[in-house]
Amino acid sequence: MAPMSTMPSALTFELLGKCSVTKARAATLHLPHGPVPLPIFMPVATQASLKGLTPDQLEDAGCRLCLNNTYHLGLKPGQATLDAIGGAHKFQSWPHNILTDSGGFQMVSLLKLARVTEEGVRFLSPHDGTPMLLTPEHSISLQNSIGSDIIMQLDDVIATTSPDLARMTEAMERSVRWLDRCIKAHKYPERQNLFCIIQGGLDLDLRRECTAEMIARDTPGIAIGGLSGGEAKDAYCKVVDTCTGLLPEKKPRYVMGVGYPEDLVVSVALGADMFDCVWPTRTARFGNAITARGVLNLRNAVYSEEFVPIEEGCQCVCCRPEEAGGLGITRAYIYHVASKETAGAHLLTIHNVHYQLNLMKRVRHAIIEDRYPAFLKEFFRMLYDDKSKYPEWAVDALRGVGVNLLGD
Ligand SMILES: [Zn+2]
Repeated sequence: MAPMSTMPSALTFELLGKCSVTKARAATLHLPHGPVPLPIFMPVATQASLKGLTPDQLEDAGCRLCLNNTYHLGLKPGQATLDAIGGAHKFQSWPHNILTDSGGFQMVSLLKLARVTEEGVRFLSPHDGTPMLLTPEHSISLQNSIGSDIIMQLDDVIATTSPDLARMTEAMERSVRWLDRCIKAHKYPERQNLFCIIQGGLDLDLRRECTAEMIARDTPGIAIGGLSGGEAKDAYCKVVDTCTGLLPEKKPRYVMGVGYPEDLVVSVALGADMFDCVWPTRTARFGNAITARGVLNLRNAVYSEEFVPIEEGCQCVCCRPEEAGGLGITRAYIYHVASKETAGAHLLTIHNVHYQLNLMKRVRHAIIEDRYPAFLKEFFRMLYDDKSKYPEWAVDALRGVGVNLLGD
């Protein structure tokens, strides 16, 4: 272990309340572009525009921190343009906070020929096939040009479902070494917050070891990475629970790649604060609406004559009645425009992003008022109706933090 001197931080973590039963926390994260309520779901705005939403609509939905992909911004507009224009906030007219990923995951997942070495991630340019290399230094340099409020270290991420323990160990140890290179390369720690990423697959000992190494580096925030890659949900919960149990209380904890509503509320109970996922916006493009009673596919003909909002009582601009300044969109309308891809997808994207942000807002109030266990019970009752349908992993994970979903 190589503890470093305290690194500068461009954030303040203001803890507002803790659940007296579970490990849930409510906080305000003060970032360079304004305060952000925690827990939070961060919509993914790929290529500096959230598919289907303008920056204004994203702002209206209450979003104060969104995610940009370094890989996409690095290709287009490219680093020179970002430097010339003064970063991604100006480039996309977004006055609020931005978090960027390292670009590594995008490369490994999008580019077939990506290969990881100690130096970095080697891949062939999607433009002309020339060999390229993403190093920790290059990732940080790109993120410094983007100017995001939270930047992520380059990590060596492999599927949690990999049975290769030697490779898993190597990836975990390399991620620690790469963090040290990222810290050294980071030019603006006084205005951009570097988050480390805990790796170690589903092996709890590897996760514990990695957590200790990462804590010693004292970054402003800490992410738990490599999850949400098809592993069993109970294994996922054990990793999150183990890591949060070791993390310092006064730092934000970000679980990467998580976005299903039930995963969010359970992960918050396990002590996580920040989440991101492309699912809510991607699924909108397939006609799916997220509601408290589950996901509705509005391309299904059963909705062709349902002249009610996507979700009764929803305050998003689509669902709100015209008298209340909304569009008064009905399920039947979405059904009828769903085939014309963009219009239906656009409306559902607005609704889904609003659903996710509003869910986290309600979660936060429940924690502050110390009624989160009751909130969880009501959430699952609404979603599944019948206790016999509750997913076992959620029942077990919540029992582990003192909430019996199957009780009264
Ligand atoms: Zn709505």
